[in-house]
Amino acid sequence: MTGSGWPRPRTGHFIGGAWVEAASGRTYPNRSPWSGEVLGEVAAGDGEDAGRAVAAAHAAFGGWARALPHERQRIFLRAADLMESRRDEVLRALALETGCGRHFGGVQVDFALKLLRQAAHLAYRPAGELLPSDVEGTRAMAVRRPVGVVAAIAPWNASVVLAGRATVGPLALGNTVVLKPSEESPYTGGALWAEILHEAGLPAGAFNVVTHAAGEAGGVGDALLDDPLVKRINFTGSTPTGRRLAEKAGRRLKRVLLQLSGQNPLIVAGDADLGYAVDAATYGAFVHQGQVCMCARRVYVERPLAAAFAERFAARAAALPTGDPRDPATVVGPVINEWALALLDRRVKEAVGLGARVLAGGVPEPPCYPATVLADVPDEAEIAQGETFGAVVVLEVVDSAEEAVARANRSDFGLAASIITGDAGRGLRLAAQLDAGIVHVNDQPVNDEPQMPFGGVKDSGWGRFGLGLAAEEFCELQWVTVRDQ
Ligand code: ADP
Repeated sequence: MTGSGWPRPRTGHFIGGAWVEAASGRTYPNRSPWSGEVLGEVAAGDGEDAGRAVAAAHAAFGGWARALPHERQRIFLRAADLMESRRDEVLRALALETGCGRHFGGVQVDFALKLLRQAAHLAYRPAGELLPSDVEGTRAMAVRRPVGVVAAIAPWNASVVLAGRATVGPLALGNTVVLKPSEESPYTGGALWAEILHEAGLPAGAFNVVTHAAGEAGGVGDALLDDPLVKRINFTGSTPTGRRLAEKAGRRLKRVLLQLSGQNPLIVAGDADLGYAVDAATYGAFVHQGQVCMCARRVYVERPLAAAFAERFAARAAALPTGDPRDPATVVGPVINEWALALLDRRVKEAVGLGARVLAGGVPEPPCYPATVLADVPDEAEIAQGETFGAVVVLEVVDSAEEAVARANRSDFGLAASIITGDAGRGLRLAAQLDAGIVHVNDQPVNDEPQMPFGGVKDSGWGRFGLGLAAEEFCELQWVTVRDQ
């Protein structure tokens, strides 16, 4: 199992700077969600492989933590250049492996480039501060030290961005990393990063990737959680999985950073520009076929605009081209797998059975699920409650934007929210009332920049991703005093 470039017939784990087979010798087929073709065989790892990766990361920690700032900076800048030179190949891989279209693929590569270039400068971030002390003749300091081995667990839906976000910040601060990608994205969410960081000069063992077959994440995840050498875990994925990890991490007193599901509202105030609001809702609900954690799942429209908005939004949704993610004209590509497609279908049918009206879409076109707008969805419908990953959005009419905020806040989730209004001041006042980790006034909700504090409240997670806060998440402060004798 070797090599660089993709597709390749076999992809191993990346451990200690080398491509290696799973200890069990098993592999699993990595299938394209669009064509169903097998793109290659991938190492089907288990807890033993995770242990080998942690040991390699631990062995590399001392050396990497001591690397000079200019060495670290050069590696991340070189990695950015390598990623940039491979843009077309990455876009192709994203389309084949995860069904990601050219637009969102480009968004992912651009994010990765900014992430790497910003992370390069973390190397020169001050490593602490001098503190005033009331003890005569004492100099006190707070010194920031990397924590050691960080385990990163990432999903498939924005595989390049989320694997990068989970690993680049911790690495840039001197930690070493074991990344566990989703079984749906072992290349774009794992091996690709290993190739690029290794070629850029990252020392062997500083970054490791362990892959696994479907249904076997728990074995690798538990081994990472249980290993005393792993000092921090960061996780991006669904709320049920995050809850399970947090419970286990709590028993081990390990800090976890969790970025979980959302049920994100987009509020269209009565004074909004109708065309702009329709554009925002269309992009926010249907980009990457609705498979982004920030996607708008509920659109609340103030009554005076509601009928016109519903008509134009439904027409836009119905006209979005569905199909091959490699076709630049496609907006709605394939759903990640048959299970996810069946879940979407079941939830839409359940809502319709409970009285919902279908304004657009609503009929699967395997392997795609077309852009779908539902109205009159009762609160008890599953689609109105939990996160449903797909191009389905619920439209609700409200008497005021304040009512929309109150309804949005009833959700157990609190990731992203958008408010479209002609009055930015009003937007800010509404933002202050929204229980959400991220609020955009006059923009759609699918937004991310590497330096921003990204994360949710309530069941949407704990802590914030973002390079601005990475030092708080992935370093320990040590209080040191020196006393004159
Ligand atoms: P999504 O629906 O976004 O794929 P999941 O929570 O299922 O959300 O997956 C997110 C990540 O969590 C993936 O890498 C997946 O393999 C991993 N995962 C799933 N179950 C577990 C588990 N029991 N322990 C550790 N990781 C897990």
